[in-house]
Amino acid sequence: MNDKTAPATAPAVAAAPDTIAPLREFVIAMTRLVERTRDEPALLAQGRALLEKLIARDDWLPEFCAQPDPQFYRQYLLHADPLERFSVVSFVWGPGQRTPVHDHTVWGLVGMLRGAELCQRWKREPDGRLVPDGPELTLSPGEVDAVSPTVGDVHVVANALADRPSISIHVYGANIGAVRRHVFDPATGSPKDFVSGYSSDRVPNLWDRSAAVRAAAAGR
Ligand code: FE
Repeated sequence: MNDKTAPATAPAVAAAPDTIAPLREFVIAMTRLVERTRDEPALLAQGRALLEKLIARDDWLPEFCAQPDPQFYRQYLLHADPLERFSVVSFVWGPGQRTPVHDHTVWGLVGMLRGAELCQRWKREPDGRLVPDGPELTLSPGEVDAVSPTVGDVHVVANALADRPSISIHVYGANIGAVRRHVFDPATGSPKDFVSGYSSDRVPNLWDRSAAVRAAAAGR
């Protein structure tokens, strides 16, 4: 390359529209919340309000975090707090897919973004077996359910739709993919250790705010 014709600075990368802004604003608000309190009822109540705002619109989830798998439900990490005080995950359920009976060991919020989900709580009987606890709930877009060792931590979640994927956005009080937790054999109640991990090594880029900054600079 002839240095005399090289531009003084690298040409600007074309600014992508800031479609990820609702997720970035949610992450910022959750970070402020976990800075402010470690009290679980406060985290569940205030986190629920923030999650309801995030899932009130369905125009921000990157396509690669919305891809189902023909065989297994997928868990895409959207953001992990650097101090692992919370994480945000997009769960994508193919038709007919469901979790085993499992726990979380930390607080969690499940917000329905697209489609519908069935949530069944389970409880332990005195003889050690696990049995369904109350009715199966159907979660519709905009609705939020909570789990935790104090409000009920063992459940099964399934896609309520037989013909298309469903997507829910989950927030947990830890880096959930790296938490040691359990799946259960309901007949015996016996636990088996598991660590869920994540379905992709990509995470969304929350931080390209260049379009707004350039627009502000151009208007100066
Ligand atoms: Fe769960």
